[in-house]
Parts: sequence; C-alpha cells; structure tokens
Amino acid sequence: MPTTRSTSDVPTLRRRELLLAGAATAAAGGLVVPPPALGDPSPPFDLPAGIAVERRRFENWSGEIVHESVWTAAPRDAEEVLRLVRWAARRGWRLRARGHDHTWAPFAVAPGVAVGRTLLVDTTRHLTGIRVVTGARPRVNAQAGAAMEAILGALAEAGLGLTAVPAPGDLTIGGVLAVGGHGTGIPAVGEQRRDGASYGSISNLVLSLRAVVWDGAQGRYVLRRFHRDDPAIAPLLVNLGAAFVVDVVVRAVRDVPLRCESFLDIPIEELLAPTAGGGRRTLSSFLDRAGRAEIIWYPGTKSPWLKVWTPMRVRPQESRRVEAPYNYPFSDQMPRPVTDLIARAAIAPGGLGRVLGQVMHGATAVGLEATRSSDLWGRSKDTLLYVRPTTLRVTANGYALLTRRENVQPVLARVLAELRRAESAGAPALLGPTEVRVTGLDHPGDCGRDGAVAPALSALRPRPDHPEWDVAIWLDLLTIPGAPGAIARMVAFERWLLAAFDPGEVGVRVEWSKGWGYARKGAWRSRHVLERVIPASFDAGGGRGGWRPTVDALTRLDPHGIFRSPLLDRLLG
Ligand SMILES: Cc1cc2nc3c(=O)[nH]c(=O)nc-3n(C[C@H](O)[C@H](O)[C@H](O)COP(=O)(O)OP(=O)(O)OC[C@H]3O[C@@H](n4cnc5c(N)ncnc54)[C@H](O)[C@@H]3O)c2cc1C
Repeated sequence: MPTTRSTSDVPTLRRRELLLAGAATAAAGGLVVPPPALGDPSPPFDLPAGIAVERRRFENWSGEIVHESVWTAAPRDAEEVLRLVRWAARRGWRLRARGHDHTWAPFAVAPGVAVGRTLLVDTTRHLTGIRVVTGARPRVNAQAGAAMEAILGALAEAGLGLTAVPAPGDLTIGGVLAVGGHGTGIPAVGEQRRDGASYGSISNLVLSLRAVVWDGAQGRYVLRRFHRDDPAIAPLLVNLGAAFVVDVVVRAVRDVPLRCESFLDIPIEELLAPTAGGGRRTLSSFLDRAGRAEIIWYPGTKSPWLKVWTPMRVRPQESRRVEAPYNYPFSDQMPRPVTDLIARAAIAPGGLGRVLGQVMHGATAVGLEATRSSDLWGRSKDTLLYVRPTTLRVTANGYALLTRRENVQPVLARVLAELRRAESAGAPALLGPTEVRVTGLDHPGDCGRDGAVAPALSALRPRPDHPEWDVAIWLDLLTIPGAPGAIARMVAFERWLLAAFDPGEVGVRVEWSKGWGYARKGAWRSRHVLERVIPASFDAGGGRGGWRPTVDALTRLDPHGIFRSPLLDRLLG
C-alpha cells in the first residue's frame, strides 16, 4: 500500500509514444497512419464498402458525459468489425466499442474532450446473437452486444443461470467483461461450490472469447479466438475497452431459485458492528446463513435496505413467486423528467437534499409493502436483476477491498466510523446511498477449465501473497451529479480509504466502471492514483499478470492504439 498521496490533476493529455511506434510498424507493413488529431471534426472517409456510419448523440447513463454528435457505426458481424479496425489503422482513426453507455468512467469518450477521429462501434444493434449449450458443462455463446437480461433469459429457458450478476439487465456482455462486472455473493456456511460456479466476476466465467488483435506476422489486425488456458487471454478478460471483443463463451450452471428477503429494520450500527456474533443481526450473520446480501443505506437514515438472497429449490409459503425481473418498481420506474426534477431539487441550496435519504427510505418501505416485494422467490435472474435505467440517476465512487471473510465486520465498522466522523466534522452531505456488497475472488479454476488463467485486470484477481483473502467487500458512495461539495467529499474519502487499513489485512483496488482517482476537479484525474496506486494494487503480491506486463500485452495486441481513449492513454501510458 502506498504511504504518500497527492491529488494533483493530470495537467495535459499525453500522446502515446506507442502511436508513433505503431505508425512505424504500420508503415513497415505498407500502411500510412497519421497520428489521430483529437478535435478533427471531419467525417470518416474511404470506409469499407457497405458499412454505414451516422452521427449519433452519446450520453452515458448518469448524464455526466454528453457529446451531441459522434460518428457511429453498427457492424452486422465480426467480419465488419474487423474491416472497420483495419480501416481505422489505415486512416489514423480510433474505434471505441459502445454498449449501453452505462459506465461512469470515461473509458469510451471523455467529457469536454473532442471526439474527432473517434468512431463509436455500437454492438447493441446487430451483435446480439445468443446460443445456449446444455449438457454436463453448460455454457452460453454470446456476441458482445447481447444484453445480460437476454443472456440470462436464454439460460433460464434451459434451466440454467449464473451465481451472481450485475443488478441491471441492460448491460452488454462486452461492456460487463470490459470492466470486470460483478454481482454479490459468497458461499453460505456449508454451501459447496458447484462445478462451473464462480463467486467472482463474470469475466471469471469466460471459457473463450474472440477479439480483434494485431498479428505481427501478417502485419495487420485479425480476428482471433483465445481460450481460457492461454495466458494471452488474461489481459482481455477485463480489458477496459482497450481491446475489441466480438463474442464470448461463458460457463453456466444449473439454476437454483433464490428467495430474496428485504429488511428495513436493522440499525446500521448493528449490521456493521465491529464483531460478528453475539446474536446480533450483523452482515456476516446473513452472509453465513445465505451468502448473498446487499446493503443500500440512504443518507441520514438509521436502518438501511438490506436484501438477502437464499438459494431455495422450493418456494417458502410466505414468499411471493416472481416470474420476471425488476420487482421494485417504486425504486426504478420513474420517468426521466421526475428523476431530473428530484435531482435538481436535491442539489438546490436549502432544497430536498437534507431529507432526500428519509424520503427514499420511506418510499422503499411503502413500496415494498404496496407491491408485496419484501419476500420474493423465483428463478435466480428474476431476483438478481432489479435495477432498470429509469432509476434516479446518481454518480458513484467504487472500490473493492480484498480481505479475509472474518474481516468483513471490522473493516465495514471502520468505514461506518469514518462516514460518521466526516458527517460530524461538517463534510458535505452525500445525496445518495452508501452501498455494500461482498463477493468471492476470481479463482480461475472455478470456470472448470484446467490451466485457466485469472483476469489480469480484475479487481477480484486473487493475491498470491494472501491466499487467506477469500472475499472482496465492494463499497460505493453514491450522490447526485453536481451535488455541492461532492468532489471534495470523494477526494477525502478516497484518501482515507487508501491509507486506512493494514496492507497485510486489506488490499484496495478500484472498481473500474465507477469513480476513482479523485482530484480537485473530479474523478479519474489524480495522477497519484492513476500512475502509482492502481499499478501498485495489481503488482502487489507478485504472480503472473502484474500491471506493466499486462499493459504491454494489451499494447502488443493493439500497437496502433486503435482502441485507446484519453483516459486509457493516461492510465496505460
Ligand atoms: C444503474 C447502474 C447499475 C450498475 N450496477 C452494476 C452492478 O451491479 N455490478 C457491476 O459490476 N456493474 C454495475 N454497473 C456498471 C456496469 O456494469 C458497467 O458500466 C458496464 O460496463 C456497462 O455495460 P455497457 O454495455 O453499458 O457498456 P458501455 O458503458 O457501453 O461500455 C463500457 C466500456 O466497455 C467497453 N466495451 C463495450 N463493449 C466492448 C467490447 N465488445 N469489447 C471491448 N470493450 C467493450 C466500452 O468501450 C467502454 O469503455 C452499473 C451501472 C449502472 C448505470
């Protein structure tokens, strides 16, 4: 763990030296590659025959990244993606895979940075094929633009599922793999991991994938399949968009229905008590009992919304059977004008902000009651998918704290104490909930393939020097974009978090899709975090897949920097 900190903003965008190297390589291969001129508004020219492009608006889910007009293509198959990549290499353009734009981190396009010579490649229009393969080792083949909801739906039709998944269904599998998407869940006490089940990220379930990569021998980009036992797949399993995955094979398991119970009456001090046991309703007691839990703690309230999922083959009498996902309409089915109005009212001086947490808590209590949703039972996907895009649009930081299961209570008790301390010291209020989930790590063997390698850039990659670390605590502080003092609060929290724990007990990694690297002007700007903390968090403990070898491997797969963006330039150098 680093001991020094600085949050100075990264002053300027650095050009990748590799672009020059890439240009030289291309020239050697008979291609001419002028370096991309950011800000060049000219349309793409000389495109491969038959592939149309159009100017489209880009707005990420939180509304914090908006570009009114970005050149966008929607290739019909992997071959068309390949032709676009070869075209980009020839013409000095950059390509960014585009899924459902749910990511907070500006990996694809950055706010306020011109998008000239950037072509977005929309995978959601045509690259959506899904094929389920049943049998002793069930799996699903999916094209990169297939939505998680569609994939889980197809699996469910065959009686299959995944152990834990991200909460929204409108995420592409390509986008989820890019950032190491995850759900919540560790084995309950006495629960045996089933063959092919992983308590880590979705990336850890990948059996193989196809990506567009540079082939040095041929001197051009090619489509190549990578298998899970090939070390070359490690940087692609969580790739931050610095590669282009066109399709993927994901391991599945026979589905076990889940009961999902909601609790609103357990004081946060009890749930996050420093020690487990003593008959208290601690988070650990729920994890021991059921393995799967999530805390949503609205600001200024006493007791959070706790959801606990328990695998149960038979519906308990008191549970309501559900046959479709998204069973909390009171929390995620609000028209955009309403959510925008709430957000504006919350951040206005003297506005709703002070009481927003109580309003949300009250609405949850009433909503759970009115929709009889406190106790649900159904196929796993019908309780694990519970966030629609029409929920209040928030911004979030995100971190994974790798540690021993026994540390869940003391670690979270310290986080709670810090949040309390900051409040009493007059820190700017959070206008959104604090969320906690707990997963296992990405043990590569879990996918069932001998010799499987771990996703190199996954926050859940196990630490070889700490084989006793078996869980990751995922921590997110949410607030409304533009909330007064929010950035200062995030800066202070991150600074505290990175120094708070004994590095022999807890290792902190960032949650790629969310906010991290906070500096005075916002997230993803702290040079210290980008250049030191993040690389160190992947180097710590040694083993295969350190930061620099992984970045170098990604660069070898894309020597022309076709898939780079301003943030990736800064992060990967
Ligand atoms: C309300 C909400 C709730 C969320 N809940 C969760 C959660 O429970 N768990 C969790 O883990 N995450 C969660 N997320 C984050 C989400 O998983 C990621 O942001 C994910 O990347 C979004 O998928 P997408 O299709 O929208 O990708 P996009 O946002 O479109 O793309 C994300 C990045 O992936 C790259 N990319 C997309 N497709 C490909 C491809 N084919 N090959 C290579 N790179 C590609 C893009 O270039 C971009 O850099 C949540 C986000 C929101 C907004």
